[in-house]
Amino acid sequence: MQLAPIFVPRPKTLFIAGPCSAESEEQVLTTARQLSQAKYIHLFRCGIWKPRSSPNTFEGIGEAALPWLQKVQEIYHLPCCIEIATPQHLEQALKAGITCFWIGARTSVNPFDVQEIAQAAKGTDISILIKNPIAMDINLWYGNFERFHNAGIKKMAAVYRGGYSDKIQLYRNDPSWLHLIEFKQKYNNIPIIFDPSHIAGKTELIPLLVQKALYLDVDGLMIETHCRPELALSDKQQQLSVCDYISMMDNIIFPRQQDITNNALSQYRMAIDEIDNELIALIGKRIDIVKQIALYKKENHLPILQIDRWQKVLDDSLKKAQQLNIDPHLIETIFQSIHESAIETQQNMVISNKEPHS
Ligand code: PEP
Ligand code: MN
Repeated sequence: MQLAPIFVPRPKTLFIAGPCSAESEEQVLTTARQLSQAKYIHLFRCGIWKPRSSPNTFEGIGEAALPWLQKVQEIYHLPCCIEIATPQHLEQALKAGITCFWIGARTSVNPFDVQEIAQAAKGTDISILIKNPIAMDINLWYGNFERFHNAGIKKMAAVYRGGYSDKIQLYRNDPSWLHLIEFKQKYNNIPIIFDPSHIAGKTELIPLLVQKALYLDVDGLMIETHCRPELALSDKQQQLSVCDYISMMDNIIFPRQQDITNNALSQYRMAIDEIDNELIALIGKRIDIVKQIALYKKENHLPILQIDRWQKVLDDSLKKAQQLNIDPHLIETIFQSIHESAIETQQNMVISNKEPHS
């Protein structure tokens, strides 16, 4: 899928800031005025139709907030970006001159809804940001881009906002960095914008998340920012004041974008490549021995899984990891995988007499 590279001004970072929700004309215009003075702002985000868990909470001003956003665009020259969840939302917003939208995490789980919106977007020149589905599913997320692509929409970007987790955790939504990395790896033609606000759920966790995401080379940030967060009607705890937003951004380190070759980094990479080669060769040797063990077990009718032996291998490895100050979780994960594959190799050889992967 070929996307127009114009949406995110690579290698620059795209900055999106603004309140969770439009609450009053005064709140919208004050926040926009304050943000228009900031160095880090390209788009003004502002929800007017709010998907909330409970119907007894503030569900947004709706269409009546569109004229306020028109004013933001006219007075402060800040293009606005709002959440849409139905073709009607799109139609009403387009009439008000809004051309940038996001599909929220509760809509991006539903292909029927996304398809209807994409259909309604046919023939328009809108920009569309798509948040990851609330329960993370990379293929479903990507399918949404295909739907808009099929409808002729070229300006698209992904917004990573973490995923729901029922574990008690520090964050409102699990940052699961591996999902972000996987998306970047698989779909590197789609710029990815990081939303720390909905991951953090609390303002104090936002700066570190932003810094980590920038080091993972995200293409932009979407950060909830309010002129008076203590009075916010939705997501109060995660909205930064504009002043805090500006000072946070002033203290963030932006990693350099260009790849510099022939420097210390490439020396380190050469060393890493060599170690990786050694690791692979050692894994190969280990597999050869696993195969000899399989033949021995087969001849002597021994069970493949010998849990005491496996427990000892794991315990010894964890002890060694501790002595070397290596994260035991890492070693456990690696050894679990190695063991799983050794069991499978032996099952295949003992039971079907086949040598797998050879
Ligand atoms: C929002 O951005 O205000 C919002 C509702 O986000 P999400 O869809 O990620 O929960
Ligand atoms: Mn919000």
